[in-house]
Amino acid sequence: MMTMTLLNETHDPALRSWVMSANPENADFTIQNLPFAVFRRRDTNEAFRGGVAIGDQILDLAAAAASGALSGDAAAALQAAAGETLNALMALGQPAWSALRLALSRALRTGAVEESQLAGCLVPQAVAEFAVPARIGDYTDFYTSVYHATNIGRQFRPDNPLLPNFKWIPIGYHGRASSIGVSGQSFPRPVGQTLPPGASVPVFGPCKRLDYELEMGVFVGHGNALGEPIAITEAEASVFGMCLLNDWSARDIQAWEYQPLGPFLSKNFASTISPWIVTLEALAPYRVAFTRPERDPLPLPYLDAPANRAQGAMDVQLEVLLQTQAMREQGQAAARLTRTSYRHAYWTVAQMVAHHTVNGCNLQPGDLLGTGTLSGPTLDQAGALIELTVGGKQPLTLPNGQTRTYLEDGDAVVLRGWCEKPGAARIGFGECIGTVLPARA
Ligand code: CA
Repeated sequence: MMTMTLLNETHDPALRSWVMSANPENADFTIQNLPFAVFRRRDTNEAFRGGVAIGDQILDLAAAAASGALSGDAAAALQAAAGETLNALMALGQPAWSALRLALSRALRTGAVEESQLAGCLVPQAVAEFAVPARIGDYTDFYTSVYHATNIGRQFRPDNPLLPNFKWIPIGYHGRASSIGVSGQSFPRPVGQTLPPGASVPVFGPCKRLDYELEMGVFVGHGNALGEPIAITEAEASVFGMCLLNDWSARDIQAWEYQPLGPFLSKNFASTISPWIVTLEALAPYRVAFTRPERDPLPLPYLDAPANRAQGAMDVQLEVLLQTQAMREQGQAAARLTRTSYRHAYWTVAQMVAHHTVNGCNLQPGDLLGTGTLSGPTLDQAGALIELTVGGKQPLTLPNGQTRTYLEDGDAVVLRGWCEKPGAARIGFGECIGTVLPARA
């Protein structure tokens, strides 16, 4: 894990690109970032293929592979990224990802001889459409924010909000991969069974308490063989990168169905991810210590390692914005509901991977892990409406005077993520947008 987090020449904040739009200090897609997606030109029948963001452009990795601009391990990795999913690249493993990152960093720098070959491989992001970047075999959602778990628990168990296992186990459940879509996704409001307050018989109809969940997604790289756990010291080397994830949730359906086996139809109707996957190597400058309050138990040995303590957490700035249909029609920008950081999570990426595989469960290239809703220490940093509105009891008022307890039809939810600090280049995740449509008749 230590080798993953060392800084190298690709993180040098002084680097500039011959793609000029990558150079402003507030850009998401600087040359120090180089995140991966799968894309094609919109309204065409082109094949989807891998791309790397640079400024407002996408480096077409299939075209770059055909150009012959890169050689050696980087060329092999480039070829693996030229197909319609990134699974083959993910399966190659960390040394290959790192070789490709270094070669792309050098080839995209000001003065690089590769400019003449690669300039023709750029596609403006403005004309692109994106696909889910990997064939996601399995999706597992965790519950790693102690603030979220406490806020939710308080609504059901005011005297004892946090269940006793939370500080020992990275709690998770198996989710649904088939309904994961990429930013721009819209979906009908789910219908299902709910139990009205005070009733003893459920009703069937559209969800009345539709919520979002601000999460980060973790894409697994090479994974592990069935029966062979991934040690926490190796866990990060098995992770390809991170994205933004909105794990939409139907709270009223969830409340009626979730016991005894956990959420089911309240979660599996749609989940939306950002198109761009930021590699762990790109996130290296933004690693921070994993800390616990002194009174809390230390993690069990299989969830503990010096590197995880020193730099297991990540300071990724996160925000949630809402644009109602009325705001959209009146040309009003989305309004911010929340601002927080991933650094507040109680369990790290390495701990999620080590725990998931400790029983021998195999992770495979392209598997997606969700962090769970990422709420910060104060209520204005909460990552879901159920927390911000205290279970729907305290409506939010938007700048145009509209109010919300839960999401209404036409609402678009925007997640944004980025990292910035003095002495390091800014890197961003871009946006993850999803829109709620009316329930099917
Ligand atoms: Ca979730």
